[in-house]
Amino acid sequence: MCGIVGYVGKEKALPRILNGLKFLEYRGYDSAGVAYLENNNLKITKEVGRISNLEKLLDEKTETYLGIGHTRWATHGIPSKINSHPHQVGQFTVVHNGIIENYLELKTKLQKEGVKFQSETDTEVIPALLNYYYNQTKNILESISLTLKELHGSFALGIICEDDKEHIYATRFGSPLIIAHDKSGYFISSDVPAILEYTNKYILLDENEIAKISSTDLTIYNEKLQTITKEELTYEGSKEAAKLNGYEHYMLKEIHEEDTVFLDTYNYYVADNKFKDTMPNLKKYQNIHIVACGSAYYVGQIGAKLIAEYANIPCYVEVASEYRYQKNFYDKNTLVIVISQSGETADTLSSLRKAKEDGIDTLAIVNVVASSIAREAKYTLYVKAGPEIAVATTKAFLAQTTLLTLLAIKLANRLDLLEYFKGLEDYIRILLNKDYQKYAQAFYKHNDTFFIGRGIDYALCLEGSLKLKETSYINSVAFQAGELKHGTISLIEEGTPVIGIATRKELIPKTISNIKEVKARGAYVLFLTNEEDNGDYYDDILVIPQVHDIITPILTVIPLQLIAYEVAKLRKCDIDKPRNLAKSVTVE
Ligand code: GLU
Repeated sequence: MCGIVGYVGKEKALPRILNGLKFLEYRGYDSAGVAYLENNNLKITKEVGRISNLEKLLDEKTETYLGIGHTRWATHGIPSKINSHPHQVGQFTVVHNGIIENYLELKTKLQKEGVKFQSETDTEVIPALLNYYYNQTKNILESISLTLKELHGSFALGIICEDDKEHIYATRFGSPLIIAHDKSGYFISSDVPAILEYTNKYILLDENEIAKISSTDLTIYNEKLQTITKEELTYEGSKEAAKLNGYEHYMLKEIHEEDTVFLDTYNYYVADNKFKDTMPNLKKYQNIHIVACGSAYYVGQIGAKLIAEYANIPCYVEVASEYRYQKNFYDKNTLVIVISQSGETADTLSSLRKAKEDGIDTLAIVNVVASSIAREAKYTLYVKAGPEIAVATTKAFLAQTTLLTLLAIKLANRLDLLEYFKGLEDYIRILLNKDYQKYAQAFYKHNDTFFIGRGIDYALCLEGSLKLKETSYINSVAFQAGELKHGTISLIEEGTPVIGIATRKELIPKTISNIKEVKARGAYVLFLTNEEDNGDYYDDILVIPQVHDIITPILTVIPLQLIAYEVAKLRKCDIDKPRNLAKSVTVE
């Protein structure tokens, strides 16, 4: 969730580490810190809040050529200087991304051995354990290996041992970590774009592997501490793709990339008549489970409805944090589809692993190439969204929806439906270029909003509502339009904003009836539909282009994203980095 960047090499370490951490800001964090060697002395600096606060305490010209840095998204203990990373115990200084689930047990055990803890974090047990084993073995690698055996949870670690002033050590389980190198030395990082300024060559560290890294050498060990060789990969995304390019916010920039993202995803699977070769043969599956978190879960709801409707296959959708712990009824004819932008979402990854352990086939829909979920699933289909920096997902949602729609077509064996995708990018552009500020004006001063819709439109209500909540901090609830009167309608009062979504011909009159119910109780109604309408039951109407039902969700989401953006802007929120949120949720 947070970020790790480390560097050892011939160039000054602090500018490189800080640059990388700034890039990782998008992942969400509340404090930051670095540890580095200067004249063979270890220095630690940490600060609460933005990296710029930390930067003020550091001199980038410092003669340091080895260091590790961290942005923390607090899981155990408040965001404070003392809880910020790096954490040091004895010889060992550590930055950690993730959670140590058994930290209390370990802490109690170490306290009995006389170890004193400074912070409230789960992380501090890691340097404490490393130091404990080092006192016994006097061997760094062995100490790391023994520590790994005791940790439960998820972690990516950057480690410095003061007895070895030439190396950084790194290891991981659950949380991602890559190692990269340029001419001057080596980096460790939570993702490749953070160090793309220096290099696009990297190695993926696998779970429980340990890396020993000097300015000129990298050695990787497996669990048994045998040295192994790993393939070097080349990152294909450009560093330009991760820049603002004149936009005020990443969220806006990413929404405005949706025409391209749609085309890239569509063409990747369909252009030049290659549809039958780019998707696996899934004929044998008689039922499908879709498992995901957050917006990806809403994409799953859209996908499930399309699969059921067009392919006639029962499709069950569940939130990954529930799925992984519940009894699931599946068999050899079940396909478990997991959806994750980052490919590292902890609960989704665990659900995938659970299904695999039970011998069930899995298919991953992922944006980040070679991420854990992408590598572990039986089949992987990439969406072509490019790097997504804003915490609130937009273009990845649209790309995932496009891909799920293609998957439904594949499962239904209805290639005729591909015809309707032609020119959709033009409709996307029409929607991107509309003015949404006027709609936002009607909303932004309210603290409660409702979204109502039926069927697939309800799934879009969920996404529209989430987008509004996460970016503008307005409480918002999505409801199946027919369900509102079973209790929740009591919350509607004079002026309460309600967005009613109706894009399915057969359901439009039904949803309109429900809109009338809220209008009669004083609601301010914005009606989002794909048919011209002159009714008197709404205050404003937003008509999206009429296209085939199967591709309508790809269009419907765009105004919802842009309204959320404009509302957040009017409320002067931190749009790209909403409070308390993290981009890549690598803890459960
Ligand atoms: N669990 C650790 C803490 O609360 C690390 C959190 C993170 O990944 O930033 O300090």
